[in-house]
Amino acid sequence: MNDLYRLLPAELDTLFQDLGHPRYRADQVLRSLYQDAPGSLDDLRQLPAALRQQLAEAGWGVGSATGVHRVVSEDGNTTKLLLRMAGGTLIETVLMQYPEPGKHPRSTVCVSTQAGCAMGCVFCATGQMGFERNLHAEEIVAQVVHIARLLRERGEHVTNVVFMGMGEPLANYNETIRAVRILVDPRAFGLSQRAITISTVGLLRGIDRLAEEGLQVGLAISLHAPTEELRQHLVPTAGPHSVADLVSAAKRFFKSTGRRVTFEYALIAGENDRPEDALALARLLRHSGTHVNLIPVNPTAGGYGRPARQRVLEFERILRENGVNTTVRVEKGSEISAACGQLRTDAEARIFSPDELSVPPAAPKHGRRQATHAPAQSPAR
Ligand code: SAH
Ligand code: SF4
Repeated sequence: MNDLYRLLPAELDTLFQDLGHPRYRADQVLRSLYQDAPGSLDDLRQLPAALRQQLAEAGWGVGSATGVHRVVSEDGNTTKLLLRMAGGTLIETVLMQYPEPGKHPRSTVCVSTQAGCAMGCVFCATGQMGFERNLHAEEIVAQVVHIARLLRERGEHVTNVVFMGMGEPLANYNETIRAVRILVDPRAFGLSQRAITISTVGLLRGIDRLAEEGLQVGLAISLHAPTEELRQHLVPTAGPHSVADLVSAAKRFFKSTGRRVTFEYALIAGENDRPEDALALARLLRHSGTHVNLIPVNPTAGGYGRPARQRVLEFERILRENGVNTTVRVEKGSEISAACGQLRTDAEARIFSPDELSVPPAAPKHGRRQATHAPAQSPAR
């Protein structure tokens, strides 16, 4: 089946034209897809039955994801969905809400771009699962649509999307960009470009390509270390790029898009949290026009834990005193394991009944299972 959620509005126009129908039919379908969030072709009630039939015969359908499980944090601000995609692939999507007095909450969706990840960051549960497959654009869009449907029931809507769930977005470049273009198209999901942030482990070619897309999306680069040696220990697939190359790439990105880059730095006790690491990071980033987001790491079974609060604040202070714009990320939803990999890891550990997970989970490739995971994060902005 080809999913209508894969198509950009202009492509949908062409499809309907080719099938011999006027353009307003494409508009009807788009309204339904992005306002009613139908689960199947049959739900497109505005279309005559004959047209739905014609679409089905041409191989088109609707709906790439089925909700398998939903967990809500105690304070109600974080919701995590486990979704099943074609072929039984399980992925996660997280909704993080930030209540604002007298207003609708800021509602950020954290989407996955791959099932698993090939980058193998030692502190990341998704990385420890290994790589299963790339997600298609329609599967990325479906995650946002699922959350939008939940929010609509409460009279709320999606305000931001961050590509910080499972997987490396720039290693699935074309599908990620297609999803972004659908999400920002006013005739499709209609989100503001500036409300989107893509987080990357630092694929240089991908960053340069993204800079030239003519998009206004934000970019976050997961740096985690001020030196090559330390970075390669934490991100074993980091390759020969030096940390200075990443800073240059961030500057190029800013030059061509006008958008400042955020460097994410997962603070791990005893690994990269020393005052001299902070100083080295400050020296690297001073005058670069970038911002640092410190993420006290969510502890993992691999033995990587977060530093004491005092140490985190000390790290932040050193960066700030040396002229680097720094924030410490607000942690959300850790009690529901709200971030990339954890819910799926729990599911594989058979916390849910076999009925809920009729499809056998993929075997972890690294043979290592992690108990906890990245906290659901506020967008790096
Ligand atoms: N692959 C991309 C995007 C997904 S990971 C990337 O690496 O940027 C999104 C963010 O979660 C990254 O900054 C990553 O370093 C962080 N992360 C992964 N595991 C974590 C953990 N256990 N605790 C805190 N942050 C974590
Ligand atoms: Fe992949 Fe990002 Fe996790 Fe690294 S932190 S393993 S790049 S998802």
